[in-house]
Amino acid sequence: MPDETDAERKMQFLYALRSKGVTDTRVLSAMEAIDRGPFIRGIFAERAYEDMPLPIACGQTISQPSVVGLMTQALKISPRDKVLEVGTGSGYQAAILSKLARRVYTVDRHSRLVREARSLFEDMNLTNITAITADGSFGLPDQAPFDRILVTAAAEDPPSTLIEQLKTGGIMVIPVGQSDAVQHLIVARKTDTGVNYEELRQVRFVPLLEGLGQDS
Ligand code: SAH
Repeated sequence: MPDETDAERKMQFLYALRSKGVTDTRVLSAMEAIDRGPFIRGIFAERAYEDMPLPIACGQTISQPSVVGLMTQALKISPRDKVLEVGTGSGYQAAILSKLARRVYTVDRHSRLVREARSLFEDMNLTNITAITADGSFGLPDQAPFDRILVTAAAEDPPSTLIEQLKTGGIMVIPVGQSDAVQHLIVARKTDTGVNYEELRQVRFVPLLEGLGQDS
């Protein structure tokens, strides 16, 4: 829409988030602070402020903003938390996490995505994110345990290695289900006695794949 000002576009973006259930004020401020525009390149860039997933490099997708908001909200991040994200993709979700947590580690199996995200984090002066090329199904043993883990690719089951790398009292959010079918967003809470699972809503994510991507 050519007549729209930046301020109007931003207001509509935040309104769409609220109307879809993103109500946590810290999450909304983090999403207001991080411009989604730079995370999308090429012909889709002009659609950056619409509430829809969009294609990025390496055949992957940047998630829908309202889903990013709902997942972030479900993590209940506190400013002291150390967070692991599996599936850097464009880096958008990690940038939002970096506004809420003390430290963010984000891993992707495509080195190109990691490189591009890293340079955006530098441009935006987001100094508390470390982006690493790795198969995130194994977590990040060197930095474990984590207060929070967010997986942004769909697994058939929550990987047990990730549960092991979660602190007691920690929360993991992960889409679970076959990649070509409906998946459920699961919130896993680790307690002294085990893990409680809660189902949030239906979602659609690209699959969590094994090994590194071909560009690595
Ligand atoms: N959070 C991203 C969107 C992620 S799309 C954003 O904000 O833009 C899912 C990402 O998960 C893809 O980039 C894909 O390469 C990555 N992925 C899939 N399987 C993986 C694995 N085993 N380890 C690490 N990353 C993986």
